[in-house]
Amino acid sequence: MSEIGKNLVVISGPSGCGKDTVVKHILNTDSRFVLSVSATTRAKRPYEVDGVDYIFLTTQEFIGKIAGGEFLEHTLYCDNYYGTLKSQIEDKVAQGKIVVLVIEVEGAANVKKVYPDALTIFVAPPSLDELERRLRNRGTEDDGKIKQRLFKASEELGLSSSYDYIVENNFVEQCAQSIIDIFDGIK
Ligand code: 5GP
Repeated sequence: MSEIGKNLVVISGPSGCGKDTVVKHILNTDSRFVLSVSATTRAKRPYEVDGVDYIFLTTQEFIGKIAGGEFLEHTLYCDNYYGTLKSQIEDKVAQGKIVVLVIEVEGAANVKKVYPDALTIFVAPPSLDELERRLRNRGTEDDGKIKQRLFKASEELGLSSSYDYIVENNFVEQCAQSIIDIFDGIK
């Protein structure tokens, strides 16, 4: 098994399914896990910290890094670039950590191509209605962007069967523990 691949956990799920909260819970309760901090050209949300939640880049900076071969994978999602930096993965695995990537479906498929041993998990919302309720409650996107993300969500749900596991997020702690148990079970 590839040393890097078996230390990667790739988590996807529609925007608003609560995967970021689930991942925060995993990182806070189990020190073996660290986050791969993605680069993005999306605008920073008020509660986000540059370098912690994302590495926020201009489009020009992002394209420069694509040209420099710095990304393991990257994609355009709802009009913004997102990408996993190779350095995030390689450096953290070299430090003995299990690296959690929270990325969308196309990125997950690309990581699985490079690292077939990576564990891929799809976090599903209880329903699309509940997803819409969570997205509206979050209040970080306007109506147009919410509709765009809901459309994307139904597309993503259709691809969930290509993941190693699907975990429904009804309760954050339970969902986080299921992911840790799956990792420990197949390690
Ligand atoms: P958000 O704008 O809500 O933070 O993220 C939008 C989507 O982009 C989410 O599904 C998130 O998981 C995904 N995403 C975040 N970082 C990356 C990345 O590095 N690569 C890919 N492919 N998707 C990402």
